[in-house]
Amino acid sequence: MNSLHDMTVAELAQALKTKQVSAVEVATGFLARLGGNPHNAFLDIDSEVTLAQAQASDARLAAGTAGLLEGVPVGHKDVFVTRDFATTAGSKILTGYRSPFDATLVQKLGASASGGAGMVTVGKLNCDEFAMGSANENSAFGKVTNPWDTARVPGGSSGGSAAAVAARLVPAATGTDTGGSIRQPASFCGITGIKPTYGRASRYGMIAYASSLDQGGPMARTAEDCALLLSAMCGPDLDRDSTSLDVPAEDFTASLNQSLEGLRIGIPKEFFGEGLAADVRAAVDSALREYEKLGAKLVPISLPRTELSIPVYYIIAPAEASSNLSRFDGVKFGHRAKDYNDLVDMYKKTRAEGFGNEVKRRIMTGAYVLSHGYYDAYYLQAQKIRRMIADDFQNAFKECDVIAGPVAPSVAWKFGENANDPVADYLADIFTLPASLAGLPGMSVPAGFGAGNMPVGLQLIGNYFKEAQLLNAAHRLQQATDFHLRKPEGI
Ligand code: GLN
Repeated sequence: MNSLHDMTVAELAQALKTKQVSAVEVATGFLARLGGNPHNAFLDIDSEVTLAQAQASDARLAAGTAGLLEGVPVGHKDVFVTRDFATTAGSKILTGYRSPFDATLVQKLGASASGGAGMVTVGKLNCDEFAMGSANENSAFGKVTNPWDTARVPGGSSGGSAAAVAARLVPAATGTDTGGSIRQPASFCGITGIKPTYGRASRYGMIAYASSLDQGGPMARTAEDCALLLSAMCGPDLDRDSTSLDVPAEDFTASLNQSLEGLRIGIPKEFFGEGLAADVRAAVDSALREYEKLGAKLVPISLPRTELSIPVYYIIAPAEASSNLSRFDGVKFGHRAKDYNDLVDMYKKTRAEGFGNEVKRRIMTGAYVLSHGYYDAYYLQAQKIRRMIADDFQNAFKECDVIAGPVAPSVAWKFGENANDPVADYLADIFTLPASLAGLPGMSVPAGFGAGNMPVGLQLIGNYFKEAQLLNAAHRLQQATDFHLRKPEGI
């Protein structure tokens, strides 16, 4: 048996099922690795809670009532509310907040007694404040470092999740992706992550950033592990999430190992333009050559409005955020200013103290584009172009089955490189935003290494509900390559 922290979710589940190791032993092993909070990846750890969950898992394993992933540790991005751990969404404004319930995805992965897969929560993972960011530099609780090079960003906003998985602090984690926050940190940290079709996995209990874009999904080292978690996460939640789709859960592991013979992979020319760094292009190209060896055919396609996805996203997402974040007013949740004159003064001071700069910037942009006089010029136009971006994908899918390209224009950058230049971060989202705006499933798969020996991810985008096809394509690549098995030095 490999050392516990090197085992995949699939291997751990098997070892637990066959009683080679107990859930308490596994939990104890991972908790020991978390001591000192490497990479500042975690925002809350509570070994008592974790060990109690592990004991319950052992009881179910002994009684033969175990869930599919019984006893396997998982970390949750701090955007998912949890009853047993604090939840802050990386913001000071939620200091002291404790949710009275678990998010649906936490429940679905958690205690099998309440219908979950039986995973044991080891803690809550650091992230950009309210999931706004591309580098995890916007967390109110400090930056997360990249395990491959601690002078570099882990990506964002699910940077804690990606760093924790890459550093083997957890075998898997949840993330949320509004404009790339599962795919981009997965790419920067050399792990695998998938954002399913919008609406396929419940948003209930996921603190809202931009509701028409937010989508939770798994991050792990292998596509097989992502398939295991995603199978447990998907499914309708119609009573609790009004945008949940009535599409049944699916066993995504059942379709792994299918041949890629004849698979048409669309290569959007707009993803390979001037802005793409040569090292990223080289890694992506070599992954595409692997696919050709596996029998796939590369088809040139066009997603003509790729560039417009940046202004469109950075109008729509802040617009929705400005509305969603109005609930943080010092009355209902978390932080409240100490001294104030009246109610309005209390709102103002609470929000001024509680929100960080990037969140304030987005709220202001959002309020502006929604305001009378600018609504038509910005918000309405953005909505129209969003529809055209979605149509561009449908045109492309007439010629191909899956779309492939880079996740980000460069490898993880160094801390401070984009400091004081929020727009530089926005521009780096160019390749992940289109699938988000269209609500399509997308994933990041380790495809090689670039400058500074930093990981490079390949992005795969599928048509609606084609998660199985994406996971299979990623799995086949992982059988032919070993990028997902490599690990940062000293880990
Ligand atoms: N970088 C993008 C943003 O800041 C995407 C973040 C996300 O997907 N949560 O909005």
